Amino acid sequence: MTTRIHNFNAGPAALPLDVLQQAQAELLNFNNTGMSILEISHRSKPYEQVNAEAEANLKELLGLGENYRVLFLQGGASLQFAMVPLNFLPQGQTADYILSGSWSEKALKEAQLIGQTHVAATTAGENYRRVPGLAEIKPSASPAYIHLTSNNTIFGTQWAEFPSFGDIPLIADMSSDILCKPFDASKFALIYAGAQKNLGPAGVTIVIIRQDLLENSPGAIPTMLRYSTHAKNDSLYNTPPTFGVYMIHLVLRWIKAQGGLAGIEKQNRAKAGLIYDAIDQSGGYYRGHAEPDSRSLMNITFRLPNEELEQTFVAQAAQAGLGGLKGHRSVGGLRASVYNAVTRKSCQALRDFMLGFQQNNS
Ligand code: PMP
Repeated sequence: MTTRIHNFNAGPAALPLDVLQQAQAELLNFNNTGMSILEISHRSKPYEQVNAEAEANLKELLGLGENYRVLFLQGGASLQFAMVPLNFLPQGQTADYILSGSWSEKALKEAQLIGQTHVAATTAGENYRRVPGLAEIKPSASPAYIHLTSNNTIFGTQWAEFPSFGDIPLIADMSSDILCKPFDASKFALIYAGAQKNLGPAGVTIVIIRQDLLENSPGAIPTMLRYSTHAKNDSLYNTPPTFGVYMIHLVLRWIKAQGGLAGIEKQNRAKAGLIYDAIDQSGGYYRGHAEPDSRSLMNITFRLPNEELEQTFVAQAAQAGLGGLKGHRSVGGLRASVYNAVTRKSCQALRDFMLGFQQNNS
């Protein structure tokens, strides 16, 4: 295949074409070093600059100042499910989890291996068609922290507004919607995200952490699992995933060039709107999984009248150059992941395909 497809993969997922082209252009000779970024020491000046710029740009995009650090770690968001309670759930205390999908369940399960937990809210009984309402959240008496998942990749739901719990540290898994729109990041004590959806390639995980939390982490956990280790060493305690961090630094520059998070949000609303409109105007032919108030800007989940049609849809879409549309097995149907880098043109192509498919198959 010589041309690029319309890529709706859930993750790893589409990256901005400009970013890929720049990475390609400087692959053999990065910044006049005579080497690619893949071949440079992580302790060299050029790499340190990449690392520092990525941290600074991420904080700038999120409006965060000196009291936050950005860490570039490995182990995926899944390792964060364990690192969060290892660092912040002391014996005798309880950590609260808000369940809004399979990834929050996995985060909770991991915390249960480490300490005492409490489910502060769940919409599991409704097959996670919506995120819990703010009034449904019932925290425990004095939680060590409260954890939520900002966007539920599999079910296609997203928090429109985040809850606040005063001084209780709020921790979020933002793997599938980080930087998709402006939000008040200072509400959060810690945010983590695997890079492979909105930030870059797989293999690097970002952690945004408030400084005061770094002072409280217990000494009795392995060095590599302690946030303070990575903060003290500017994410250079051991060899970091250098290429991933470099790609994130290019993606962050690209987001700034799109007008920052406000510019990205505008694009994302228009893009998702094209597809949600096709669902809403189909007279019930396409049925969205998420309740409208909880719809995700990033993952659009929907069903067709039967599974046979769903299979035909995926196959014909692939032939038409639209890839990655098969839904996750726990929801079935279709899922279009329309992360920041997916273009409006791709969303328009999917919308056109949906209208045509309905006409030909109903
Ligand atoms: N949380 C969310 C919301 C996710 O979508 C994913 C991956 N799809 C994960 C966690 C797990 O991430 P990783 O594979 O990086 O461990």
